[in-house]
Amino acid sequence: MVAVFDDFLEANASYIKNFNNVDLELPPKRQVAVVTCMDARLHPAPALGIKLGDSHIIRNAGGRIDEGTIRSLVISQQLLGTKEIVVLHHTDCGMLTFENEDLYQIVKEKLGEDVSDRDFLPIADLEQSVVDDVNFLSGLKVLAPDTPISGAIYDVKTGAVREVTRK
Ligand SMILES: [Zn+2]
Repeated sequence: MVAVFDDFLEANASYIKNFNNVDLELPPKRQVAVVTCMDARLHPAPALGIKLGDSHIIRNAGGRIDEGTIRSLVISQQLLGTKEIVVLHHTDCGMLTFENEDLYQIVKEKLGEDVSDRDFLPIADLEQSVVDDVNFLSGLKVLAPDTPISGAIYDVKTGAVREVTRK
């Protein structure tokens, strides 16, 4: 069943009618990478004033720092010239609703697979997860030294972004 994909193709046909951004450079113009959650209620570009071509936006469950995030940030910095990182978590995040053990059990029951060797990086305390992720990033030797790294929380009810920390 790919009902939504068909809708996407139809929507894209409309999108390209007014598409006039063909001359954008590959490196992000504002030299910034945003790490944020995949949550459907958060559209980082309009929320942060990011235009097409401005910024890398790295999204995953929770906006946490995992191997995939680090891989993307190294590429972002070393090959595409970004010089600043923003970590953006958000209120009512799904990552606040479970612990690793819960997901191990669900996957075991539904799929018969043992995923207990994985850390799904659930969040116990929202503010603390932002601080932890910013601190973790600032200690990574594979990121450029003295990279400004900021952490903030987006409120899914109001759209407001509140600063938590900056390094
Ligand atoms: Zn989330």
